[in-house]
Amino acid sequence: MIKTKGYAAATAKAPLAPYAFERRDPREHDVAIDVKFCGICHTDIHMTRGEFPGSIFPMVPGHEIAGVVTAVGSGVTKFKKGDKVGVGCMVDSCRTCAHCQQGFEQYCALTPIWTYNSRDKDGTPTYGGYSNNLVVDENYALRMPTNLALGACAPLLCAGITLYSPLRHWKAGPGQRVAIVGLGGLGHMGVQIAHAMGAEVTVLSHSTRKEADAKRLGADHFHSTADPDTFTKLRDRFNLIINTVSAELDWNQYTKLLAVDGSFVVVGVPGKPIPIEASPLRNGRRSVAGSVIGGIRETQEMLDFCAKHQLSSDVEVISIEKVNEAYERILKSDVRYRFVIDMASLK
Ligand code: NAP
Ligand code: ZN
Ligand code: ZN
Repeated sequence: MIKTKGYAAATAKAPLAPYAFERRDPREHDVAIDVKFCGICHTDIHMTRGEFPGSIFPMVPGHEIAGVVTAVGSGVTKFKKGDKVGVGCMVDSCRTCAHCQQGFEQYCALTPIWTYNSRDKDGTPTYGGYSNNLVVDENYALRMPTNLALGACAPLLCAGITLYSPLRHWKAGPGQRVAIVGLGGLGHMGVQIAHAMGAEVTVLSHSTRKEADAKRLGADHFHSTADPDTFTKLRDRFNLIINTVSAELDWNQYTKLLAVDGSFVVVGVPGKPIPIEASPLRNGRRSVAGSVIGGIRETQEMLDFCAKHQLSSDVEVISIEKVNEAYERILKSDVRYRFVIDMASLK
């Protein structure tokens, strides 16, 4: 077994604190990784605070993991020692269901094995990337861009793919008007990616504070949703709206902003059900849909896309002792735009 140092939440009410544990020795198809950076996703806060059912404590969060390969099993073909490597939200899946076979492991019929707060095939809990090392099957590891700073690429592994996948699925591109709701960790990747795909991009933000950043990141337009005129002047406008916000917004205000055949796609996770009015959907054949991260093949495609377009995350790199403070700042929307933990700070 490999001795590992990390940070864990002992219970849903506990702050994160140092935690020592063990990982499996690399098997034939495994890579062992020295974790260099791990992004802090808003989901880490939902999870460590037990906001979703089925929490497994102690919980070592982290699914935006960037590091370097330190060892490979005898059957590994994709990686060698010294390669830059990434791990996102999944470390395995059944591999045999129709979704896995098509490369949609995130929709695995038996549920994917998540990078943390999940159980491996042998029943042991999975522990995430707020830690100094990781062992993963090479099929669930990604090749990281070599032309961009590794720390700034860590957030691509969740925030990046969570926006890339719906932007691709709903065909964002030239001639398409795309709105991104919420300029946070997910949203700021969505703006950059949608812009690079050639779409006309609008940011809908809950204040005016981020307008200059939105434009710098590639937004063509910016509107504050605190201004009630926003919802009248933008009616029927967008082909695609991606909602990254976990606060309980009135989704009916947004479906009315869709053009005919437009889609309102939910990636943020509100704490309770949101009622939907039928009329705005009927009058314009509009859709409400959802999306979760992306498959492994698509995640590699996204990383290669970001390398080609030189896109990465705006990051504030922190030492791991600051993680609880960072959580509070994320809840206040006080991060531009992703905290990334420098694992060298893990003593
Ligand atoms: P984040 O960095 O905290 O961003 C959320 C954004 O929501 C904020 O930056 C803010 O942007 C906006 N917001 C709107 N109303 C708000 C309010 N009343 N208070 C605070 N912020 C408000 O979070 P994230 O990491 O991007 O994650 C967003 C959500 O997506 C979370 O629920 C997370 O669990 C979920 N998620 C889903 C997936 C998936 O696969 N579907 C993957 C990762 C995360 P403005 O200031 O611009 O309004
Ligand atoms: Zn995430
Ligand atoms: Zn499957």
